[in-house]
Amino acid sequence: MKYPANQMEFEEKFKTEQDCIDYLISIRWPHGFECPICGSIRSWKKIKGRFECIDCHTETTVTNGTIFHKSTKSLLIWFRAIWWMVAQKNGVSAKGLQKILGLGSYQTAWTWLHKFRRLMVLSGRNKLQGIVEVDEVLIGGKTSGKRGRGAEGKSLIAVAVEVKGRKTGRVRLAKIPDASSDSLNTFIEANIEPSSTIITDGWPSYNEIRQKGYNHKVQKSKMNEEGDEVLPNVHRIASLLKRWLLGTHQSYVNKNKLEFYLDEYVFRYNRRTSTSRGLLFLRLIEQGVNTAPLSYDKITNQKHGR
Ligand SMILES: [Zn+2]
Repeated sequence: MKYPANQMEFEEKFKTEQDCIDYLISIRWPHGFECPICGSIRSWKKIKGRFECIDCHTETTVTNGTIFHKSTKSLLIWFRAIWWMVAQKNGVSAKGLQKILGLGSYQTAWTWLHKFRRLMVLSGRNKLQGIVEVDEVLIGGKTSGKRGRGAEGKSLIAVAVEVKGRKTGRVRLAKIPDASSDSLNTFIEANIEPSSTIITDGWPSYNEIRQKGYNHKVQKSKMNEEGDEVLPNVHRIASLLKRWLLGTHQSYVNKNKLEFYLDEYVFRYNRRTSTSRGLLFLRLIEQGVNTAPLSYDKITNQKHGR
């Protein structure tokens, strides 16, 4: 069993620190230990996830160079935090995580959740394809609206949603500086496969989509024949997103961190039908093992890198 399917299995599988260490070893070195210095596969296994290379005598711990590197917290607590984050359908606030794990510090909970968000964005970066609705929405502040200049306290978010008949497929979200064709084309090319069919409203910034190698359909009127709003899928996602930000994160989160919350939302939404939360747990652990450690300072100062 590569991942726990539910809470019971999680508790069964990770009872001790050694259970967590063994799990990390199986994910980091699925074919056996490999020395990160000389590449040798000959080693002495020591306690607490340490290996000594027989050839160059370097000692490596399974957590070396991963997000768990040199943490003062046990892997058991880390694993519970990750499990808790993926097991809650709508996510968890830093305060909630602090409480459930009995962490002494709010800052630790806050930092961890931001670390996990960075792991979320790394997995599953295949572009959207097929029929895709695209629009921009303003979020933040008291009122909602579109493209309004001088919309203070608001962020402009580009939204792309795959349309699968009456259902929606995957989504992509990004904070964009403005609704210019440059900004929108950059978003579209980064997130949607060429030759997909993109549906937008009549905003002129979308006029170059065809030149970029996409099919383009414009929904012009406020209402279509069925009396529905245009781009219903994008708008449904936008309202779910707003509700999620308000619900889980209390307020529209710290402005320069908004992109990371968008990443978390995308990760959750795109995996909403995943039958096992455990698979999400495995994905985050896998990314965690392959991700260099991040300090609190780095998290507070780091700009979103896409
Ligand atoms: Zn070596």
